[in-house]
Amino acid sequence: MPQDTQRTLGRDAQRNNILAAKLVAETVRTTLGPKGMDKMIVDAMGDVVVTNDGVTVLEEMQIEHPTAKMIVEVAKTQDDQVGDGTTTAVILSGELLKNAEHLLDQNVHPTVIIKGYGLAAEKAQAILSEMAETITAADKDKLRNIITTAITGKGAEASKEKLADILLEAIETVGLNKDDIKIEKKTGGSTEESELIKGIVLDKERVHSSMPQKLGDVKIALLDCAIEIKETEADTKIQVTDPSQLQAFIDREERSLKEMVEKIVATGAKAVFCQKGIDDIAQYYLSKAGIYAARRVAKSDLEKLARATGATIISKINELTSLQLGYAGTVEEQKIGDEEMTYIKGCRNPKSVTILLRGGTTHVLAESERAIKDALGDVVAALESGKVVGGAGAAEMELAKKLREYATSLSGREQLAALAFADAIEVVPRTLAENAGLDPIDMLTELKARHDEGIKWAGLDVFEGKVVNSWEKGIIEPLKLKLQAIKSANEVAQLILRIDDVIAGGSKKAGPQMPPMGMGGMPQM
Ligand code: ADP
Ligand code: MG
Repeated sequence: MPQDTQRTLGRDAQRNNILAAKLVAETVRTTLGPKGMDKMIVDAMGDVVVTNDGVTVLEEMQIEHPTAKMIVEVAKTQDDQVGDGTTTAVILSGELLKNAEHLLDQNVHPTVIIKGYGLAAEKAQAILSEMAETITAADKDKLRNIITTAITGKGAEASKEKLADILLEAIETVGLNKDDIKIEKKTGGSTEESELIKGIVLDKERVHSSMPQKLGDVKIALLDCAIEIKETEADTKIQVTDPSQLQAFIDREERSLKEMVEKIVATGAKAVFCQKGIDDIAQYYLSKAGIYAARRVAKSDLEKLARATGATIISKINELTSLQLGYAGTVEEQKIGDEEMTYIKGCRNPKSVTILLRGGTTHVLAESERAIKDALGDVVAALESGKVVGGAGAAEMELAKKLREYATSLSGREQLAALAFADAIEVVPRTLAENAGLDPIDMLTELKARHDEGIKWAGLDVFEGKVVNSWEKGIIEPLKLKLQAIKSANEVAQLILRIDDVIAGGSKKAGPQMPPMGMGGMPQM
């Protein structure tokens, strides 16, 4: 091995890895729940992020430690798969490892812990699915509860009802495909002024000020090609011997641009959204024809426009016909804050909508966006499987109780591991209590008592500091959030427990730069 290789073996390796995982969990722990605090992360460039969102905290921190990075991956997976529950997934991972460490201290072998955790994790999926309640798109109140549960405690909390209205209407309009809901942010105004646009809002102005600023009953063309003369590939030089030749050349260019615009005009299009550039001369002819045009529209926006207006995206102007045009009630340039934006509204049967978020500063807006994305993820997850559970620690308390019952069916040491797993699940209600300044022991004792009485959704109202029925209180979360969090937490815990040898390689640079091995001598070790 190269000289600067470091090796850690056995219990030391395990201890180090568990410590790193626990530290990551510790970092986000205080952000959990409605009473969780925010974090302010300042990067090397001095850019500031203020957030309560687990995955955002960890991504912004740019963690280097390899084991810690594995925990960060758990948060990212949770974010991809559900969108919400990132803090939960991370603190669960940390707690599973912490409890595993206690077992290691009692000389329980890692493979036994891994086995017991595996059994418990599998059983947990079944128990949770069993206890879940059903929900359909018609349960508007419950859907609203899911949204407000996700937003409670975040920066946007004061406007959670308004945001819930917007989200519900958005989903009603376009269905459950998250990609069809575009979120556009504009500073200025308050969160309360956020709105749902049935159509698309583009962060773009019209290319030419003499184009109409507002059009009604608009046929729309979408182009992913430029309205420009193609530049020749190689650097060509044009030899002009007298001025008339130059003029002829310019005239020819101008003529082809004019023809391109005429083709567009002939289709009846009144608005053109172009993914690439629009030549100045083409801009002139377009505005003369009374056409509204915007250029350098993002590909993703063009696709959303296609779904919203029913237009087909065209790659060659020659191929454009009236059949590929879409429709919008209005296309209008509007000033929001101090920026111009294009509103494409009144689409018939839009398959794509925009949530225009407003907020005083970019920090407020960024945190509102994260909150609304969490809520959107939760509603989609809830409706996709039609299953939800009570929040505020209720699902976790019930799960822990049922897991303990299950553990008694296991043999000695595996039973210990399964019990440790059950204890770990309670980290959620315990942390909710701690973050609300409540006594976790008192609260957990009372929660246990209620669950033993058969109140399965007994959870912790962190505002009133007492045990309530979370379902009745409307604290509701998708089943998938809990399933995914436990699944990934268990996977990463097992992964880390399996490691008993950490070889931190000699710097990578050393490899390729080593002198070639000749007969004469081996490279210096
Ligand atoms: P995560 O990143 O894991 O989603 P959050 O900070 O969003 O973390 O906190 C989620 C936790 O807060 C969940 O356990 C949820 O049940 C709980 N929670 C949400 N609303 C309430 C409430 N009103 N009272 C108590 N707990 C709540
Ligand atoms: Mg959340």
